[in-house]
Amino acid sequence: MTITRFAPSPNGLLHLGHAYSAIVAYDLARHAGGKFLLRIEDIDGVRSKPELADAFREDLRWLGLTWEEVPAQSTRLASYEDAAARLKSMGLLYACTCTRSEIAAAATKTGPEGPVYPGTCKGASKDLNVPSAWRLDVEKAQRLTGQLEWQDDLAGVQTAEPELLGDVVLWRKDNPASYHLAATLDDAADGVTLVARGQDLFAASHIHRLLQALLDLPVPRWHHHALVLDEEGRKLAKRRGSQSLADLRASGVDGIQLGTDLRAGRFGPVNSLSKA
Ligand code: GLU
Repeated sequence: MTITRFAPSPNGLLHLGHAYSAIVAYDLARHAGGKFLLRIEDIDGVRSKPELADAFREDLRWLGLTWEEVPAQSTRLASYEDAAARLKSMGLLYACTCTRSEIAAAATKTGPEGPVYPGTCKGASKDLNVPSAWRLDVEKAQRLTGQLEWQDDLAGVQTAEPELLGDVVLWRKDNPASYHLAATLDDAADGVTLVARGQDLFAASHIHRLLQALLDLPVPRWHHHALVLDEEGRKLAKRRGSQSLADLRASGVDGIQLGTDLRAGRFGPVNSLSKA
Protein backbone atom coordinates (compact mmCIF):
# COMPACT_ATOMS: atom_id res chain seq x y z
CA MET A 1 0.00 0.00 0.00
CA THR A 2 1.19 3.50 -0.81
CA ILE A 3 1.52 5.62 2.33
CA THR A 4 2.51 9.28 1.99
CA ARG A 5 2.75 12.04 4.53
CA PHE A 6 2.76 15.77 5.02
CA ALA A 7 5.08 16.73 7.86
CA PRO A 8 4.92 20.45 8.62
CA SER A 9 6.90 22.12 11.39
CA PRO A 10 4.83 24.48 13.51
CA ASN A 11 7.30 27.35 13.43
CA GLY A 12 5.28 29.56 11.11
CA LEU A 13 1.98 29.53 9.25
CA LEU A 14 1.75 27.42 6.11
CA HIS A 15 1.96 29.09 2.70
CA LEU A 16 1.18 28.05 -0.86
CA GLY A 17 4.32 25.94 -1.09
CA HIS A 18 3.10 23.85 1.82
CA ALA A 19 -0.37 23.59 0.28
CA TYR A 20 1.15 22.23 -2.91
CA SER A 21 3.30 19.76 -1.02
CA ALA A 22 0.33 18.47 0.97
CA ILE A 23 -1.76 18.18 -2.20
CA VAL A 24 0.96 16.25 -4.05
CA ALA A 25 1.32 13.78 -1.18
CA TYR A 26 -2.45 13.49 -0.80
CA ASP A 27 -3.02 12.87 -4.53
CA LEU A 28 -0.23 10.29 -4.75
CA ALA A 29 -1.85 8.32 -1.93
CA ARG A 30 -5.38 8.75 -3.23
CA HIS A 31 -4.57 7.68 -6.78
CA ALA A 32 -2.88 4.57 -5.45
CA GLY A 33 -5.75 3.78 -3.10
CA GLY A 34 -3.36 4.37 -0.22
CA LYS A 35 -3.14 6.47 2.89
CA PHE A 36 -2.15 10.09 3.50
CA LEU A 37 -0.72 10.94 6.92
CA LEU A 38 -0.25 14.20 8.79
CA ARG A 39 2.69 14.39 11.18
CA ILE A 40 3.44 17.53 13.16
CA GLU A 41 7.23 17.96 13.40
CA ASP A 42 7.32 19.94 16.62
CA ILE A 43 10.76 19.33 18.09
CA ASP A 44 12.44 22.54 17.06
CA GLY A 45 12.45 23.67 20.69
CA VAL A 46 13.19 27.32 20.15
CA ARG A 47 10.89 28.07 17.25
CA SER A 48 8.12 25.51 17.67
CA LYS A 49 4.66 26.92 18.41
CA PRO A 50 2.44 23.91 19.05
CA GLU A 51 -0.72 26.03 18.80
CA LEU A 52 -0.07 26.39 15.06
CA ALA A 53 -0.92 22.72 14.53
CA ASP A 54 -4.63 23.55 14.76
CA ALA A 55 -4.25 26.20 12.07
CA PHE A 56 -2.50 23.59 9.88
CA ARG A 57 -5.41 21.17 10.26
CA GLU A 58 -7.80 23.97 9.38
CA ASP A 59 -5.73 24.76 6.26
CA LEU A 60 -5.81 21.14 5.10
CA ARG A 61 -9.57 20.89 5.64
CA TRP A 62 -10.03 24.12 3.66
CA LEU A 63 -8.03 22.57 0.80
CA GLY A 64 -10.46 19.65 0.86
CA LEU A 65 -7.94 17.08 2.08
CA THR A 66 -8.58 14.26 4.51
CA TRP A 67 -5.83 12.50 6.43
CA GLU A 68 -4.88 10.24 9.25
CA GLU A 69 -2.85 12.01 11.90
CA VAL A 70 0.06 10.18 13.49
CA PRO A 71 1.69 11.20 16.79
CA ALA A 72 3.64 14.46 16.80
CA GLN A 73 7.41 14.25 17.05
CA SER A 74 7.45 15.62 20.60
CA THR A 75 5.85 12.36 21.74
CA ARG A 76 8.54 10.20 20.16
CA LEU A 77 11.70 11.40 21.84
CA ALA A 78 12.55 7.98 23.30
CA SER A 79 12.88 6.46 19.84
CA TYR A 80 15.25 9.24 18.77
CA GLU A 81 17.35 8.70 21.89
CA ASP A 82 17.52 4.96 21.25
CA ALA A 83 18.66 5.47 17.68
CA ALA A 84 21.27 8.05 18.68
CA ALA A 85 22.56 5.70 21.38
CA ARG A 86 22.80 2.92 18.82
CA LEU A 87 24.77 5.07 16.39
CA LYS A 88 27.03 6.19 19.24
CA SER A 89 27.69 2.63 20.28
CA MET A 90 28.65 1.89 16.68
CA GLY A 91 31.24 4.68 16.98
CA LEU A 92 29.53 6.71 14.29
CA LEU A 93 28.82 9.93 16.21
CA TYR A 94 31.33 12.44 17.48
CA ALA A 95 30.89 15.42 19.76
CA CYS A 96 31.24 18.85 18.23
CA THR A 97 31.55 22.17 20.03
CA CYS A 98 31.98 24.40 17.00
CA THR A 99 29.83 27.47 16.67
CA ARG A 100 28.09 28.46 13.45
CA SER A 101 30.62 31.22 12.82
CA GLU A 102 33.59 28.92 13.48
CA ILE A 103 32.19 26.51 10.92
CA ALA A 104 31.55 29.26 8.39
CA ALA A 105 35.14 30.49 8.84
CA ALA A 106 36.73 27.04 8.54
CA ALA A 107 34.54 25.49 5.84
CA THR A 108 36.06 25.10 2.39
CA LYS A 109 33.00 23.61 0.72
CA THR A 110 29.41 24.72 0.47
CA GLY A 111 26.78 22.03 0.20
CA PRO A 112 23.05 22.07 -0.43
CA GLU A 113 22.41 23.10 3.19
CA GLY A 114 25.20 25.67 3.50
CA PRO A 115 28.84 25.33 4.61
CA VAL A 116 29.91 21.69 4.83
CA TYR A 117 31.32 20.92 8.26
CA PRO A 118 35.11 20.66 7.83
CA GLY A 119 35.49 17.96 10.48
CA THR A 120 37.26 20.17 13.03
CA CYS A 121 36.11 18.12 16.03
CA LYS A 122 36.46 14.71 14.41
CA GLY A 123 38.99 12.67 16.31
CA ALA A 124 39.46 15.37 18.94
CA SER A 125 38.74 14.19 22.43
CA LYS A 126 36.24 16.71 23.66
CA ASP A 127 35.43 17.91 27.11
CA LEU A 128 31.86 16.67 27.19
CA ASN A 129 30.90 19.09 29.94
CA VAL A 130 30.94 21.68 27.23
CA PRO A 131 27.58 21.58 25.48
CA SER A 132 27.94 19.53 22.33
CA ALA A 133 26.19 18.59 19.20
CA TRP A 134 26.70 15.09 17.92
CA ARG A 135 27.68 14.68 14.31
CA LEU A 136 27.51 11.66 12.06
CA ASP A 137 30.89 10.48 10.81
CA VAL A 138 29.71 10.08 7.23
CA GLU A 139 32.94 8.60 5.92
CA LYS A 140 33.01 5.89 8.57
CA ALA A 141 29.29 5.24 8.12
CA GLN A 142 29.73 4.82 4.37
CA ARG A 143 32.58 2.36 4.90
CA LEU A 144 30.11 0.31 6.89
CA THR A 145 27.20 0.42 4.46
CA GLY A 146 29.01 0.47 1.13
CA GLN A 147 27.46 2.33 -1.77
CA LEU A 148 23.73 2.92 -1.49
CA GLU A 149 21.03 3.82 -3.94
CA TRP A 150 17.63 5.37 -3.66
CA GLN A 151 14.78 5.93 -6.05
CA ASP A 152 13.10 9.22 -6.82
CA ASP A 153 9.92 8.88 -8.87
CA LEU A 154 10.76 11.96 -10.92
CA ALA A 155 14.57 12.00 -10.98
CA GLY A 156 15.15 8.24 -11.22
CA VAL A 157 17.68 6.07 -9.41
CA GLN A 158 20.17 8.04 -7.33
CA THR A 159 23.51 6.97 -5.92
CA ALA A 160 23.54 8.15 -2.32
CA GLU A 161 26.04 10.96 -1.82
CA PRO A 162 25.72 11.85 1.86
CA GLU A 163 29.16 13.48 1.68
CA LEU A 164 27.48 16.36 -0.17
CA LEU A 165 26.03 17.42 3.16
CA GLY A 166 28.99 16.21 5.19
CA ASP A 167 29.00 15.24 8.86
CA VAL A 168 25.51 16.51 9.69
CA VAL A 169 24.35 17.11 13.25
CA LEU A 170 22.06 14.33 14.43
CA TRP A 171 21.70 15.46 18.01
CA ARG A 172 21.79 19.01 19.25
CA LYS A 173 22.51 20.72 22.46
CA ASP A 174 19.27 22.72 22.30
CA ASN A 175 16.98 20.30 20.41
CA PRO A 176 16.43 16.65 21.16
CA ALA A 177 17.12 15.32 17.70
CA SER A 178 17.84 16.80 14.32
CA TYR A 179 15.32 16.83 11.51
CA HIS A 180 17.37 14.20 9.64
CA LEU A 181 17.26 11.66 12.44
CA ALA A 182 13.69 12.30 13.59
CA ALA A 183 12.07 12.39 10.15
CA THR A 184 13.89 9.25 9.00
CA LEU A 185 12.87 7.30 12.08
CA ASP A 186 9.29 8.54 11.92
CA ASP A 187 8.82 7.76 8.25
CA ALA A 188 9.85 4.21 9.05
CA ALA A 189 7.68 3.99 12.17
CA ASP A 190 4.68 5.40 10.30
CA GLY A 191 5.10 2.92 7.45
CA VAL A 192 5.62 5.68 4.88
CA THR A 193 6.38 4.06 1.53
CA LEU A 194 6.59 7.21 -0.60
CA VAL A 195 8.20 10.34 0.83
CA ALA A 196 6.70 13.25 -1.12
CA ARG A 197 8.24 16.64 -0.42
CA GLY A 198 9.79 19.63 -2.17
CA GLN A 199 12.95 19.54 -4.26
CA ASP A 200 14.60 21.75 -1.64
CA LEU A 201 14.94 18.60 0.46
CA PHE A 202 16.33 16.42 -2.33
CA ALA A 203 19.87 16.36 -0.91
CA ALA A 204 18.62 15.49 2.57
CA SER A 205 17.53 12.15 1.18
CA HIS A 206 21.19 11.13 0.69
CA ILE A 207 21.62 11.34 4.45
CA HIS A 208 18.27 9.72 5.15
CA ARG A 209 19.16 6.78 2.94
CA LEU A 210 22.42 6.35 4.85
CA LEU A 211 20.58 6.45 8.19
CA GLN A 212 18.12 3.84 6.94
CA ALA A 213 20.99 1.51 6.13
CA LEU A 214 22.72 2.12 9.47
CA LEU A 215 19.56 1.64 11.52
CA ASP A 216 18.07 -1.25 9.49
CA LEU A 217 15.02 0.76 8.51
CA PRO A 218 12.80 0.03 5.52
CA VAL A 219 13.62 2.10 2.44
CA PRO A 220 10.77 4.11 0.90
CA ARG A 221 10.61 5.69 -2.54
CA TRP A 222 10.83 9.46 -2.85
CA HIS A 223 8.98 12.04 -4.90
CA HIS A 224 10.69 15.44 -4.74
CA HIS A 225 8.28 17.79 -6.42
CA ALA A 226 8.89 21.20 -7.98
CA LEU A 227 8.56 24.21 -5.73
CA VAL A 228 6.02 26.99 -5.89
CA LEU A 229 8.03 30.14 -6.59
CA ASP A 230 7.36 33.81 -6.07
CA GLU A 231 7.47 36.52 -8.76
CA GLU A 232 11.26 36.66 -8.52
CA GLY A 233 11.61 32.92 -8.90
CA ARG A 234 12.46 32.38 -5.24
CA LYS A 235 11.11 29.75 -2.93
CA LEU A 236 8.18 31.07 -0.90
CA ALA A 237 9.01 32.06 2.65
CA LYS A 238 7.01 33.71 5.36
CA ARG A 239 9.92 36.00 6.15
CA ARG A 240 9.78 37.37 2.61
CA GLY A 241 6.12 38.19 2.99
CA SER A 242 4.55 35.15 1.27
CA GLN A 243 0.91 35.15 2.20
CA SER A 244 -0.13 32.43 4.60
CA LEU A 245 -2.92 29.99 3.82
CA ALA A 246 -4.66 31.30 6.94
CA ASP A 247 -4.65 34.81 5.43
CA LEU A 248 -5.88 33.55 2.06
CA ARG A 249 -8.66 31.65 3.79
CA ALA A 250 -9.64 34.66 5.88
CA SER A 251 -9.73 36.87 2.80
CA GLY A 252 -12.28 34.64 1.13
CA VAL A 253 -10.16 32.56 -1.26
CA ASP A 254 -11.83 29.23 -2.07
CA GLY A 255 -9.50 26.47 -0.88
CA ILE A 256 -10.87 23.85 -3.27
CA GLN A 257 -10.38 26.17 -6.25
CA LEU A 258 -6.90 27.00 -5.00
CA GLY A 259 -6.14 23.26 -4.92
CA THR A 260 -7.36 22.94 -8.51
CA ASP A 261 -5.12 25.82 -9.57
CA LEU A 262 -2.11 24.33 -7.80
CA ARG A 263 -2.69 20.94 -9.40
CA ALA A 264 -2.97 22.56 -12.82
CA GLY A 265 0.33 24.35 -12.35
CA ARG A 266 -1.35 27.74 -12.29
CA PHE A 267 0.73 28.77 -9.31
CA GLY A 268 1.03 32.42 -10.20
CA PRO A 269 2.29 34.98 -7.81
CA VAL A 270 0.40 34.71 -4.55
CA ASN A 271 -0.81 38.28 -4.83
CA SER A 272 -2.63 37.61 -8.07
CA LEU A 273 -4.92 34.98 -6.55
CA SER A 274 -8.48 36.00 -7.05
CA LYS A 275 -11.08 35.84 -4.34
CA ALA A 276 -13.81 33.27 -4.60
N1 GLU B 1 9.22 19.37 8.91
C1 GLU B 1 9.88 19.47 7.66
C2 GLU B 1 9.56 20.81 7.03
O1 GLU B 1 8.54 21.41 7.37
C3 GLU B 1 9.39 18.35 6.78
C4 GLU B 1 10.31 17.95 5.78
C5 GLU B 1 9.95 16.62 5.12
O2 GLU B 1 8.87 16.55 4.51
O3 GLU B 1 10.70 15.69 5.26
O4 GLU B 1 10.32 21.29 6.21
